[in-house]
Amino acid sequence: MERCDVLVLGGGPAGSSCAWGLRDSRLDVRVADRATFPRDKACAGWITPQVLSALGIEPEAYRKERVLQPIRGLSLARQGDLATVVDCGEVVSFGIRRSEFDHFLLERTNARLYLGDPTLDLRREAGRWVRNGELAARVLVGAGGHFCPVARELGARADGSEPATVHACEIEFEMTPAQQRACAVRPDLPALVFGRDLRGYGWVLRKGDWLNIGLGRRDGRDLPRRTDEFLTWLGATGRIPTGVARQLRRHAYLFHAESPRALAAEGVLLVGDAAGLACARSGEGIRPAVESGLLAARTIAEGIRRPPADMARAYARALLQRFGARPGRARPGLTGRLPASWRGAFAHHALTSRWFASRIVVDRWFLHRRDPALGGF
Ligand SMILES: Cc1cc2nc3c(=O)[nH]c(=O)nc-3n(C[C@H](O)[C@H](O)[C@H](O)COP(=O)(O)OP(=O)(O)OC[C@H]3O[C@@H](n4cnc5c(N)ncnc54)[C@H](O)[C@@H]3O)c2cc1C
Repeated sequence: MERCDVLVLGGGPAGSSCAWGLRDSRLDVRVADRATFPRDKACAGWITPQVLSALGIEPEAYRKERVLQPIRGLSLARQGDLATVVDCGEVVSFGIRRSEFDHFLLERTNARLYLGDPTLDLRREAGRWVRNGELAARVLVGAGGHFCPVARELGARADGSEPATVHACEIEFEMTPAQQRACAVRPDLPALVFGRDLRGYGWVLRKGDWLNIGLGRRDGRDLPRRTDEFLTWLGATGRIPTGVARQLRRHAYLFHAESPRALAAEGVLLVGDAAGLACARSGEGIRPAVESGLLAARTIAEGIRRPPADMARAYARALLQRFGARPGRARPGLTGRLPASWRGAFAHHALTSRWFASRIVVDRWFLHRRDPALGGF
């Protein structure tokens, strides 16, 4: 049987960041993914600058061959209300295409890749993790996203019944010149449209010639129908071109604070969506995926020769330090304490207040302007 030091299962942003973080470690690192790359992933493709900084990516170099849409602010509204436009006057985040971004990250890892190769069997044998009966690894990194088989080994249900599940649907397509003219949403000011019950929001994100439209909600009931209605409303109000083909892609993921998932066990670390690390307010999952991948890499590089249980504890500590404690349920913010019937009125007043939209929604909830990028990689 073949042996390696680290097997990363999943080549999305979490797995590739972990492998990249280990590039100078002299460890034998392998990455296995059931997909061949470039592959797509249901995602709006909005990233904060902290992601590029942590990964040492120069925006100018990246955009030479790929889409990197500079974003200067957000247009915010409750559905049916006038929008409040928050223009930060400088580039505050970016739009990427996941097929390009994930491929780029995976290619620069220097790890040996097993692509188009699903993991069908995992077992613990003589202190190692054995994949498909062929490859034995000292450390296994579960980076297979929400449905990660490693997370399931550690008890994740991934059947939609876990608390804190976000359900989201989206479409992405390249606009024709006529569609570009008919799209009122500016590329540098994506539109976010909050539901009246504040249980989720829809978005329109224009990335170069590409358009991504979607809806994410805490409540997955009727999501395709709600998304369909959202698309109809966007078309009827002139925000997007009409007649858009509606081939919706659906996926789910978990918010960190409420996630019931394990973070690590003996010889195993979970990263990204496999661990359920997304930010509750914005639904941002790429930054936690990248940061947890890097923190896993650091923990492995420092701790692979120590007892496996020590490494698992060190990683869990690093995650809690970076992302905060996991009380197991959301701390009810102001909106959570309001009766459901008052939330719509609150959303209306909050989103039409320039101060609240700019300082709280954009700066704090979406951009995490006070949180510096993870350094040292
Ligand atoms: C509709 C939608 C929109 C979103 N928009 C945004 C956004 O704009 N910005 C943002 O920050 N976050 C967004 N998110 C969240 C974000 O997409 C995820 O948090 C992020 O992709 C997590 O990265 P990951 O590497 O953990 O998992 P993934 O990106 O899901 O990667 C997991 C990898 O594991 C592989 N894999 C799975 N099972 C197996 C197996 N059995 N064997 C081998 N390989 C396997 C998969 O092929 C995949 O390549 C969105 C999510 C959804 C659903």
